Amino acid sequence: MSAEPVSPASRSHPLGSRATAVEVRRSARRRRTVSAYREGNRTIVLIPARMSAAEEQRWVAVMLDKLAAQESKRMLGDDELAERAAWLSEQYLDGRARPDTVRWVTNQNTRWGSCTPAEGSIRLSHRLQGMPEYVVDYVLLHELAHLLVPGHGPRFWALLEAYPRTERARGYLEGVVAAARLPCLPTARDGRGGQREER
Ligand SMILES: [Zn+2]
Repeated sequence: MSAEPVSPASRSHPLGSRATAVEVRRSARRRRTVSAYREGNRTIVLIPARMSAAEEQRWVAVMLDKLAAQESKRMLGDDELAERAAWLSEQYLDGRARPDTVRWVTNQNTRWGSCTPAEGSIRLSHRLQGMPEYVVDYVLLHELAHLLVPGHGPRFWALLEAYPRTERARGYLEGVVAAARLPCLPTARDGRGGQREER
């Protein structure tokens, strides 16, 4: 049992709106393992019989996040990513950011996302796959905002103000970077070919 407790990720957007009833089943045979799976529109969480109510609550939250992360990894192909981008643009940027292409790339190891406004293209690092949806949404929204405003001045951050999880997502990513001891935080290309460090 090594997963860290995290609070439930956003369920508010279309791809994450799988609202499910949770059924906790206790098993005397289980000693230490917790597992969970979907059954129709219910989520079954299997826990050891001896677990306290507080532990149960904590582990249900952990397992729901793990399932959501697995599902976002499975579900988001490039097409879904483009749909998600369109939805985020509509929701937070009045639909003004309209990328021509949005895709996953595997050659971005020091950046989470990048965009080339001249081409209307957005690329997200495959390392985001499996992270909570609110983190992927943040990086996508960040790059969408760069299609409108290059760099990270006040005008840029004002665009992200409407997204309620900006600080949390940045904290998550900073934690990942610190843990992996990567040399730098993600950068984004601004239309002139320069690269800027995320702050
Ligand atoms: Zn940026």
